[in-house]
Amino acid sequence: MLRTREQYMADLAKKNPNLYFNGKKIDRLDPMQLPAINVMGLTFDAAHDPKLKDLCTATSHLTGETINRFNHIHQSAEDLHKKQDMTRALCNEVGQCIQRCMGIDAANALHAVSYEAGKSPDRKTDYHANWLKWLEYFQKNDLVASCAQTDQKGERLKRPGEQTDPDMYVRVVEERADGIVVRGCKVHISEASISDEILVVPNRALMPDEKEYAVAFAIPSDHPEVKQVVSFHNNNKREIYQKGYEVGYTDSYIIFDDTFVPWDRVFLCGETQHGGVCALLFALFHRHSYSGCKPACLDYVIGLAANAAEINGIEKSPHVREMLSQLIMTGELGYAAGYTASDLGKPEMYMPGKGFVPYGPGSYIPNSIYANVGRCLTGEAVFHEQEILCNIAGGLPATFPTERDFANPEIKDLLEKYLNRNPKIPIDDQVKFWFQFIDFTTSHSGGSMNYGNYHGGGSPIMEQIAITSQYDIKKRKEQVKKIAGMSL
Ligand SMILES: Cc1cc2nc3c(=O)[nH]c(=O)nc-3n(C[C@H](O)[C@H](O)[C@H](O)COP(=O)(O)OP(=O)(O)OC[C@H]3O[C@@H](n4cnc5c(N)ncnc54)[C@H](O)[C@@H]3O)c2cc1C
Repeated sequence: MLRTREQYMADLAKKNPNLYFNGKKIDRLDPMQLPAINVMGLTFDAAHDPKLKDLCTATSHLTGETINRFNHIHQSAEDLHKKQDMTRALCNEVGQCIQRCMGIDAANALHAVSYEAGKSPDRKTDYHANWLKWLEYFQKNDLVASCAQTDQKGERLKRPGEQTDPDMYVRVVEERADGIVVRGCKVHISEASISDEILVVPNRALMPDEKEYAVAFAIPSDHPEVKQVVSFHNNNKREIYQKGYEVGYTDSYIIFDDTFVPWDRVFLCGETQHGGVCALLFALFHRHSYSGCKPACLDYVIGLAANAAEINGIEKSPHVREMLSQLIMTGELGYAAGYTASDLGKPEMYMPGKGFVPYGPGSYIPNSIYANVGRCLTGEAVFHEQEILCNIAGGLPATFPTERDFANPEIKDLLEKYLNRNPKIPIDDQVKFWFQFIDFTTSHSGGSMNYGNYHGGGSPIMEQIAITSQYDIKKRKEQVKKIAGMSL
């Protein structure tokens, strides 16, 4: 089944209210939620759009049915390419994140990890069979999933098992005949308030005595024993100057306050080694997704920078050309790294000390060096992009008048006269442009997006650790010693 945007919204309306915002409980279709739902809605429109449906749909390897590509398990390098290109294409439509990648990335990680963990003679339940049952339900109903990986983490230098409060990482507090009881809080979980399901995975590598933290499961996003405390990053509302697309995002703190999960929704329970791999693998798939979305964000930044330069009449200045070239290089290098990660994708995973080894039931995993290089490069560039936009715009976005000032007959003409920087561009278009520019740079939502673009998928240090631990630095040292004629 391919749902429509309308069916998705009708299903959201039926959900149990467990969202908390600004001191009260809100419904799924609360006005604060609508801009984010509008972005997610595009992933449903695209599957029906003749121009986009080849990219945005796939054939389920489980049922042979046509499904939304965001619910697909990659069966080839071509699938990895299509995921990257779909992500860039849809992000290009809204100018920012398309929101549905957390589900596909966690699903692909769990597909492989549940298969490997399912071979364990001590497994608590049949992890892969449970997974396949959930996956079929997910694909058949065209559901949206978010991924809850990031734990509260408490005292940063202490491991999960060393924390003063043991609930700082989500953990199993009880195993029952019919399921498990979990406690803890996952933070910054994007689009959980507009998703149908939440896939919960471990946050980090685990020691053998940290079994209670090695847990992965799926839970309905409106489960009565799950509380979501939501934050919103909606672009500024407009009453007069209409936008081309209404955009917004949500993130939730997801609190599991002794929440029951039946065994058939559990994909890992106590296998610390698989828990660590699961954490790495979700991060890897997610960093690969960033090689689609971050180049698209850069496309948008380039458009903002070039329009600002034109309005300011400086588009031919050498410093503007130099800054535009920096933006283009970062975006396209990020894309190229992701493209290579797709092309070199295999049903293999890099294991420290072992190199690449076959992993999972044959589904494709992007090459980890290139996925991490691309993500790190584009993540670290985020604040430099803002610096470039600030440089080209000048101070105007920080002090721009409000829409109602432009509507006030006493000052409207004067404002239009004194804000006009380019007689060739209608003043209404200049005003609309600066409102859009402000959303991305000096607004509340722009600030939050910077943090997501920088830290999402793991902070740069995490990618740097992945890159340096997988690249053969020893071999490079030996190469130089040999060429220099040094003793090896
Ligand atoms: C807008 C947004 C959306 C997000 N969406 C999701 C999502 O959908 N799902 C999800 O699971 N996560 C999500 N994240 C979380 C994201 O993955 C994390 O923010 C990221 O992994 C960093 O974790 P943190 O925020 O706890 O920062 P921290 O890890 O606390 O980092 C803060 C600083 O502390 C340092 N530090 C931390 N631990 C150590 C240590 N042991 N030793 C030395 N230094 C240390 C870090 O290097 C960094 O400099 C999102 C984040 C944002 C901002």
